[in-house]
Amino acid sequence: MLGSPPVQPFDFAALLEAMPDAVVVADMRSRIVYANASVERLLGWAPGSLTGEHLHAIQPERLHEAHDTGFGRYAATGERRLFGTPIRLPARGADGVEHDVELNLAEISGPNGERLVMGVIRDLSERVELERGLRVLRYLKATSAAAAQLWTRLDPALVLQTLTDVLVADFDSALARAWVYEADTNTLVLTASAGLSTRTAESSRARIDVATYGYKVGRVARTREAVIRNGLEGDPEFDQEWVTREGLQAVACLPLLSGQTLLGVIVHFSRLPLPPEVAETIGHLAALASAALNDGRLVEQERAARADADRSRAHFELLAGVSEQLAASLDPEVTVQTVADAVVPTFADWCVVDLRREDETLETVASAHREPQLMAHIAELRSSYPPNERTDPPHAIYRAIGGEKTIREAVTHEALEQRAVDGRHLELLTQLGIGSHIVATLAVRGRIIGAVSLVRRPDRPPFDEGDTATAEDIARRAAMATENARLYRSAEQAVEIRDRFLAVASHELRTPLSVVYGHWELLARWLRNDPDAATRANADKIETSVRRLGQGVDQLRRLVEELLDVSRLAHGTMDMRRGPVDLAAVVRQAVDDADATAATGRLSLELPEGPVVGQWDAARLGQVLDNLLLNALKYTPGEGRVEVTLTHDEGRALLRISDQGIGIPADELESIFEPFNRANNASTQHFPGLGLGLAVSREIVSRLGGSMWAESDGEGRGSTFFVELHSGDPSPPVTTDVGVQP
Ligand code: ADP
Repeated sequence: MLGSPPVQPFDFAALLEAMPDAVVVADMRSRIVYANASVERLLGWAPGSLTGEHLHAIQPERLHEAHDTGFGRYAATGERRLFGTPIRLPARGADGVEHDVELNLAEISGPNGERLVMGVIRDLSERVELERGLRVLRYLKATSAAAAQLWTRLDPALVLQTLTDVLVADFDSALARAWVYEADTNTLVLTASAGLSTRTAESSRARIDVATYGYKVGRVARTREAVIRNGLEGDPEFDQEWVTREGLQAVACLPLLSGQTLLGVIVHFSRLPLPPEVAETIGHLAALASAALNDGRLVEQERAARADADRSRAHFELLAGVSEQLAASLDPEVTVQTVADAVVPTFADWCVVDLRREDETLETVASAHREPQLMAHIAELRSSYPPNERTDPPHAIYRAIGGEKTIREAVTHEALEQRAVDGRHLELLTQLGIGSHIVATLAVRGRIIGAVSLVRRPDRPPFDEGDTATAEDIARRAAMATENARLYRSAEQAVEIRDRFLAVASHELRTPLSVVYGHWELLARWLRNDPDAATRANADKIETSVRRLGQGVDQLRRLVEELLDVSRLAHGTMDMRRGPVDLAAVVRQAVDDADATAATGRLSLELPEGPVVGQWDAARLGQVLDNLLLNALKYTPGEGRVEVTLTHDEGRALLRISDQGIGIPADELESIFEPFNRANNASTQHFPGLGLGLAVSREIVSRLGGSMWAESDGEGRGSTFFVELHSGDPSPPVTTDVGVQP
């Protein structure tokens, strides 16, 4: 140590003044007794100005209470909790701005040995800057890593889940949530979430109505502008208790955009502040997610477009197939079966076609099932459990026909259970399988002639709107083809009737015509030769001729009348003049007339005691009776008797005309009521006739609300014709048993 200069005691004051760190010394009452020059550089206080001030002066207000407690305890007990380690905390500058600083505490003795506390305060702003830079770097790195992940996800839900996961894992997100925007309903649908599971005011809803939602997410969706908020204290949009408990400091709410098109919204809650450059990196991530979402959307659109194209092709192929098949046949039944076969199984798993009968009831005319062995089930379903109009709601067919619209429905098993009438019904429905169905009406020139029911089983995607259009197309074509087939058939029938008419008429008219002609010629010749002599000598012969001539003319008149009636019947112009009629009187009159002209005692009549009155047409009923009586007499050769009985019971009048004639073969009991149809035995035995009287008679009776039928024990064993009329009600009865034979 010799030779070395003597060590001078340190000039501590100069040292303190020269220190780059700020130094503040305070007494046990928190009074500042010293502050060095760096205090000014760091916090903006002129060093002298702090002397005598309370330490609160350099502390943000929110820390005052904590300081008082801690410092008070230390002053009283000497307990040094914060001594020895650097403490990071904010300090308040002279201008009120906060600074990030590091504080080191030490106890020193004052000139008089009093306890003092020295605080060495180091500026951290550079370090904070650096840390912030590093954070941005880390985020950018995470962003590029996330890019690869985001682009492998084409499904929006996956993109957004990846996004929220990345925010939590790499962006210090405490809670991240993402919504997908649905433009057509203007709503945001919560799609992904990561981080805290606590519900917040903003994120508690699965769907957000963009037009009305007041919170940030709604505003961001409306304005398409990001909202970054640092310091959530006092923000009424958040539950404050939650914000404090979780130590949340900042929120970023960002729109996910493609151009100006909104794709979604994300929210990111952070426990760290979000200075602009950090917020910007989150913005980059959001932009990447938007691009991935948009790509996914385009791919989805392309996929949908391709599916649409596939569907249209299938639609046209199906229709082309149906049309081709339809064109191949002119038989209505074959036509509708063609439709059923063409749509199963490509378009529907099973199918039923019902046509409307004239009485509005339905008749199942065709059906198909992808499992042919289940066809019997369809038959049983329709016969045992026919579509019901009176259930609530009515059967889909009736809703379709009644509302003149196509019905498309998804059908659940519960719905089937409700609809089923009993266990067997449910079993049939379940085995046939109903997951969804379409009922399309068959309409021709505004008239609904039936319906096509198309059914898909539950294991198949249900019918959608596009399928409805296909079904309607099929129904339109089927209706037209059915109608064409019907028209063709009636045209064919018309031609057949015309041919039969020509054949019958030429034969039947010739007989009375030649009688008329023969007697007219005879009379003319006598009159030409010697009128007087003729009159005198041939009085008997002349009388006979005149009578035969009259009969011939009468027969001709009848034939012409019948023909006219048939034509009126075909054109629907046979009108009825209804009024109160005593059927007993009409019957008596007809029997008297027949007796007078032809029967001469072969007829017997039995009538009830009083009149049998109903709202009928007397002349038309007389025509029916004439026809039945003349037939009975005509087809009963020799002396065979004809019995006529009229009974009347509880509003039901029943007329029986029974003969002992040639009878009617069992298989012709119905067909004889068709125009121009004659039973085989009548033609072969050369009874004259056009085969029109019964057709006209049955039409008259049916227009008067009654029915008419024939019975016979067979050829040679006589026939009985029945006419049933309702006497009470003037309007035609509407009960369903009209026309049903007992
Ligand atoms: P038409 O007697 O002029 O042939 P209708 O229409 O009156 O025509 O009768 C149709 C057919 O019904 C007759 O051709 C005959 O075959 C049968 N028919 C009608 N009435 C009788 C009857 N009383 N007995 C046997 N057959 C009858």
